[in-house]
Amino acid sequence: MSSNKKLMVLAGDGIGPEVMAATLKVADWFARHRSLNFDITEGLVGGAAYDAKGVPLTDETLADAMAADATLFGAVGGPQYDDLPFEVKPERGLLALRKEMDLFANLRPAMVFPALVSSSTLKPEVVSGLNIMIVRELTGGVYFAEPRGRETLADGTVRAFDTNMYTPPEIERIGRVAFDLARKRQGRVVSAEKANVMHSGVLWREVMTALHQAEGDGVTLEHMYADNCAMQLVRAPKQFDVLVTDNLFGDILSDTAAMLTGSLGMLPSASLGAPDETTGKRFALYEPVHGSAPDIAGKGLANPLAELLSFSMMLRYSFDQGDDADLIEQAVEKALSGELRTGDIMADGFTQTGTDGMIDQVINSLDELAR
Ligand code: NAD
Repeated sequence: MSSNKKLMVLAGDGIGPEVMAATLKVADWFARHRSLNFDITEGLVGGAAYDAKGVPLTDETLADAMAADATLFGAVGGPQYDDLPFEVKPERGLLALRKEMDLFANLRPAMVFPALVSSSTLKPEVVSGLNIMIVRELTGGVYFAEPRGRETLADGTVRAFDTNMYTPPEIERIGRVAFDLARKRQGRVVSAEKANVMHSGVLWREVMTALHQAEGDGVTLEHMYADNCAMQLVRAPKQFDVLVTDNLFGDILSDTAAMLTGSLGMLPSASLGAPDETTGKRFALYEPVHGSAPDIAGKGLANPLAELLSFSMMLRYSFDQGDDADLIEQAVEKALSGELRTGDIMADGFTQTGTDGMIDQVINSLDELAR
């Protein structure tokens, strides 16, 4: 029986298939040069699945993804699907994957490659060398907790409400992910909440403190109010190593951190489930932060590096191939200093290229680094 890693590939819509094809060229490079082989199953998701099957994710595709060691995702959506009923919108395919695999931990690195320092809106000295890992709780809190809804009061006033609610086990499991990551980085965790005004924030802080006392060896923990954290992220972002926070604050803080890096086409992410108690296997889905970019889809113009860096996260976090992940990141850095760049990261002195040109430049860099 093959001992190859089982990889589910869901390219999706718009530029998804373009950046995925480019990334799989790099997977092929690793198969040829490093004997790193994958058994790849490809499936349809989002609008592509709706067009072919009438649903954004079939049960078979979900089962294939759950049987795989990891899922690599492209992007879903597009204006042609905007008027579909809610249950079959392309995004429901992604949400179903997250829900069925209970992917509660969203990892969003915000890294500034030296060659792209000038793409940030912040001063070079503020962002140069930046490397933050944001860990966002993804399946609880205000986007899911009940009661939530909208009602009309007796006097005719409409009111709408959501609930921010967390239990200790939900906080502990995301805290554990943050501590584990910090141990492989600089060992510093900042936990952000609003313990000054929210009960859920008080509990979050208590549980994080207790978890740190019980399981925080080798890691420092600092608590920060989420509003101050937003300010610190743009004032002095390099003070952060790992930042752990709930679903709502994580949504906002991870987008803030993302923009420190200057380009959507460069940002990867990972969503992880809990490790299985007996096998240790955890569900994991890797995807770029960007969407399907309908404005440039089909033109071969998309930057494939966010998808490639998602693949690199997969090697690091699902397959323990940290050396190979490092090699990809070095090759990306080297390629960014080459002559060619995609439009989203264009700068004076470079020549504009497309998806293929950019990935070929990375592959050339891999060849040179492996020599
Ligand atoms: P988007 O990320 O698709 O695009 C925003 C802008 O960034 C566009 O100008 C686009 O051309 C550019 N861009 C994005 N990725 C790029 C890349 N790799 N290279 C070069 N330029 C890139 O966001 P949007 O326009 O708000 O959404 C478009 C569609 O994508 C919508 O249907 C939306 O629902 C969907 N979407 C999907 C996901 C996902 O699949 N996870 C995430 C966000 C948006």
